[in-house]
Amino acid sequence: MQPSNILVINCGSSSIKFALVNPSESDFTLSGLAERLGSADAVLHWQHRGSKDSKPIANADHRLALAELLPLVEHATQGKLLGIGHRVVHGGEHFTAASRIDSKALQQIKSLEPLAPLHIPVNLQGIEAAIKLFPELPQVAVFDTAFHQSLPEHAFRYALPEALYRQHGVRRYGFHGTSHRYVSAQAASFSGLAYGDSSWLIAHLGNGCSTCAVVNGQSRDTSMGLTPLEGLVMGTRSGDVDPNLHSHLAKTLGWSLDEIDRVLNQESGVLGLSGLSNDMRTLEQAREQGHVGATLAIEVFCYRLAKSLASMSCALTRLDGLVFTGGIGENSPLIRNKTVEHLKLLNIQLDREANALCVRGVAGPIHTQGHPRVLVIPTNEERQIALDTLGLLKQHTS
Ligand code: ADP
Repeated sequence: MQPSNILVINCGSSSIKFALVNPSESDFTLSGLAERLGSADAVLHWQHRGSKDSKPIANADHRLALAELLPLVEHATQGKLLGIGHRVVHGGEHFTAASRIDSKALQQIKSLEPLAPLHIPVNLQGIEAAIKLFPELPQVAVFDTAFHQSLPEHAFRYALPEALYRQHGVRRYGFHGTSHRYVSAQAASFSGLAYGDSSWLIAHLGNGCSTCAVVNGQSRDTSMGLTPLEGLVMGTRSGDVDPNLHSHLAKTLGWSLDEIDRVLNQESGVLGLSGLSNDMRTLEQAREQGHVGATLAIEVFCYRLAKSLASMSCALTRLDGLVFTGGIGENSPLIRNKTVEHLKLLNIQLDREANALCVRGVAGPIHTQGHPRVLVIPTNEERQIALDTLGLLKQHTS
């Protein structure tokens, strides 16, 4: 049988995360990170079948970093690489699923730049560099927004003049779609339910956080909107605020739009509330020692998360389970417990011991018997991107 190796590439503004995924194996063959790209400190870190290594790549840009990756990938696959899957942050309304990258798809991705001005250009840089380096390989784009294209109009429209939607694309798109899809499908299989006949609330809690209602394998509502700022309190992002806040800050403090954007995206969330850190581990330790700001940040984070989950339940007709995932969701019994304490009206209750056990990659149920199912399931976006890429390549060859 031919090995199904897919290289998954995720380009950020100054970094590239990569993984070589063989879907028939549970661990990645090769994975790593090129970081601080464009600076003298640029470095490539990788892990190949358990052994770690790194190499300075001073002043490398995305293209050079990918070129450094090439021999590692060739060595790890013995030349047997089937294709490349690229994570692309925004697919607008055009991309409702993963798409093979050709010149038309590239044009369409370019046209979405106004919706994600920071991310689309770096995603494109990664794609273009990969096409040059691996011209013979099929390349596939997998979009963070695509899973949410099934939202009904009453969930994706803002109460704004229609022209803003029709002419300028102002609507709710949602993000983290790859994670919500992977985790909800895993939850169904874990519970012995058919994915196409199941109903889930998902809390993806990483540096960015979002909730999602998944019904019969489709996203029906999600907490992020036009941009990944809407919704939950996050590491450095405010989540929902009064929509008049921009004009209030501009008028009362004379702040520019750029300053307001920076504060809401980079200086708010649990970092802003605590005055200490955006990292939940640090905040949990500080709370133990009585830090007032950290205690408040955790309370607000959990209450707002519970409120979002309760509102997402409007999209369900039954609840097969609530799933926690992402760095915080997978590792923090405290956050899971505090959140669920606000969800008593949904009859959700955790088993203290099971909750404590599900950390560091351990998946499982954490609810009390006789109460709605609550699961901890580690997300794996790279694996889902590889599966989507492989699925598309198989369609093309069959
Ligand atoms: P990203 O969105 O960048 O992929 P992750 O999913 O890795 O982020 O999540 C990062 C968050 O997970 C950080 O806030 C980190 O503190 C938190 N986290 C990781 N381990 C723990 C833990 N043991 N307890 C609490 N929070 C944790």
